[in-house]
Amino acid sequence: MMIAMALEEYKRKRRFEETPEPAGQVEKKSAHRFVVQKHDATRLHYDFRLEMEGVLKSWAVPKGPSLDPADKRLAMQVEDHPVSYFDFEGIIPENNYGAGTVMVWDVGTWQPLSPVAVEGKYVPGTDAEAVAMLAKGDLKFRLKGKKLDGDFALVKMKGRRPGSKGTEWLLIKKHDQYAVEGYDIDEYDESVLSKRSLAEIAGDAGSAEWRSRPAGGRGKLKAAWLADAVAKLDQKKAEEKKLGEKKNGKRPPAKKKQKN
Ligand code: MN
Repeated sequence: MMIAMALEEYKRKRRFEETPEPAGQVEKKSAHRFVVQKHDATRLHYDFRLEMEGVLKSWAVPKGPSLDPADKRLAMQVEDHPVSYFDFEGIIPENNYGAGTVMVWDVGTWQPLSPVAVEGKYVPGTDAEAVAMLAKGDLKFRLKGKKLDGDFALVKMKGRRPGSKGTEWLLIKKHDQYAVEGYDIDEYDESVLSKRSLAEIAGDAGSAEWRSRPAGGRGKLKAAWLADAVAKLDQKKAEEKKLGEKKNGKRPPAKKKQKN
């Protein structure tokens, strides 16, 4: 079964008796959260993860996400991570996969957008559309985070170059009121969880204790604002669904207006 397979690569790469990372499992429900982790491994990069289909769909973004639509950021798709990875911050010990310091750089909620713009604007889409867009290699979504905001797209690169693994995507900010020209990610070296810089997480003797707190707490919505945002998003989705069912059977009428 596909579902049972989802985290096999994740588990195969890690030794859980050594790394503080969670073993995790495929969850039955997805709460539409996203996380960006700043990861000082062999090479500094950012890991962009969307909670979807019971796991965190994950991309390693060498230069990190940008709020500038002019930046098309290379994003290498990597193995699905367990949802409990959501608030992992700390140090992966040497000689382990991904050894280095991990910061929770941003967290928030995401919403699928319709595959096609309606009168030039992207409108909320369904989970089924998100799954289809991911499979097709053109996933559009809206983020509501502490640092990242607004509409984005992850677009799979076609035209494979020699030596390419076929895992290259581009992470692109769309033009909206949240776009920031000349966005410089290096100006934001602070954890949204602990307010620490990457250096502080790396050098902080207390972080060993911090990261080994009971596993039961992982993946829960600790930040009140985030729990709130998830609740609101769920409610909005439920309302939209109801409205769509009332009006014309299954979903909101967005599709009919779409120009292609
Ligand atoms: Mn990483």
